[in-house]
Amino acid sequence: MERHSFDITVIGAGVVGLAIAEELSRHFKGILLLEKNESHGQETSSRNSEVIHAGIYYPEGSLKASLCLEGKSLLYDACEKRGIPHRRIGKLIVATSPEEEEALWALQGKAERNGVDDLLRLSDKVIRSLEPSVFATAGLLSPSTGIIDSHSLMRSLLVGSTDNGVTAVFRSCLTAARFDGDRYDLEINDGEYHVASRVVVNSAGLQSDRVAAMTGIDLERERYRLKPCKGSYFSMSPSPGIRHLVYPVPAPKHEGLGVHATIDLGGRVRFGPDVEYVDSIDYRVDEGKRDAFHESILKYLPGISRESLSPDMCGIRPKLQGPGEDIRDFVIREESRLGLPRWVNLIGIESPGLTACLAIARRVANLIAPVMD
Ligand SMILES: Cc1cc2nc3c(=O)[nH]c(=O)nc-3n(C[C@H](O)[C@H](O)[C@H](O)COP(=O)(O)OP(=O)(O)OC[C@H]3O[C@@H](n4cnc5c(N)ncnc54)[C@H](O)[C@@H]3O)c2cc1C
Repeated sequence: MERHSFDITVIGAGVVGLAIAEELSRHFKGILLLEKNESHGQETSSRNSEVIHAGIYYPEGSLKASLCLEGKSLLYDACEKRGIPHRRIGKLIVATSPEEEEALWALQGKAERNGVDDLLRLSDKVIRSLEPSVFATAGLLSPSTGIIDSHSLMRSLLVGSTDNGVTAVFRSCLTAARFDGDRYDLEINDGEYHVASRVVVNSAGLQSDRVAAMTGIDLERERYRLKPCKGSYFSMSPSPGIRHLVYPVPAPKHEGLGVHATIDLGGRVRFGPDVEYVDSIDYRVDEGKRDAFHESILKYLPGISRESLSPDMCGIRPKLQGPGEDIRDFVIREESRLGLPRWVNLIGIESPGLTACLAIARRVANLIAPVMD
């Protein structure tokens, strides 16, 4: 049986695993990046809104809030330096009733406590001048929100990693993990080969809870069990001709940000994602959702027709909270307290995981540095 040995193994080549591999490769040698699919970024990292979030929505003091803010500025810098296509396009959050206006001002207060101090209050008139097709009684403009080509970002992180000596292997699924008191024995593809590793970083996205469980972690006791939550998108043709991202006021409990209008770098407008908890991973978009999408969008884009909407794509959020439950934070933990030294779990890395990826990577490097000596 083939056996290989590495100092550090990163499981999962989504945007988070790629960012971690590259960051670690600046400080350490002997790194393996393990991915079960035939290429990188084929799951959640290529099925999202590609928005660089400002950091408005997340609970004060949470990792989601701090890593989103730090990640946003790291990401804009990286985009400039590496020539990754992006645009600081700005986002409007629009209220359509007095109740929503109240919620909007509360959201502004929360954003400011999180350190987002560039939000501008807009009147209905100003919104009409910016976006004539949008209906709103008032709104907030977030000038630091942008869009990014996530595929270019991932390619750049992969190249950065391999240039620094990271070994990236594909079609290699971690199927079992065992700690022998010194190293982790990682079984790949049901025993096709094994890897011995001193440090393991579990950034396996939708499978990160199952990967954690391979080490004997009790998912219920640690509250690590994921509740996958699908978000579907509909595209619109002809395009409504908007120039900003347009978001409604988010629903309570933060199950999603509300069906919003996203614009990609090619100028294509998509609406989504909605919120649907699911038992299995199925990336088909249900055409039957057209009426519900149409109804949500009509609130802030009254002119659009039902027929202009077509099912597009979907992504699945690796959520830690179930329907109606309080928002949970990212789990980013080194698990010595569970008898698993040098094993780092990243679980529940839903939005704003793309925005935060470079800050998450720094945090993981800081967790690992003390145990590498
Ligand atoms: C609908 C939707 C919209 C979103 N919009 C935004 C947005 O606009 N802005 C933003 O900042 N964030 C957004 N996000 C969140 C963002 O997409 C995620 O936080 C991010 O992509 C997570 O990256 P990841 O690397 O952790 O996970 P993934 O991309 O899922 O990567 C995990 C990788 O691990 C691999 N893997 C799993 N198990 C194993 C195993 N046993 N062995 C080997 N490999 C394994 C998988 O194949 C996969 O490639 C959105 C998410 C969704 C679902």
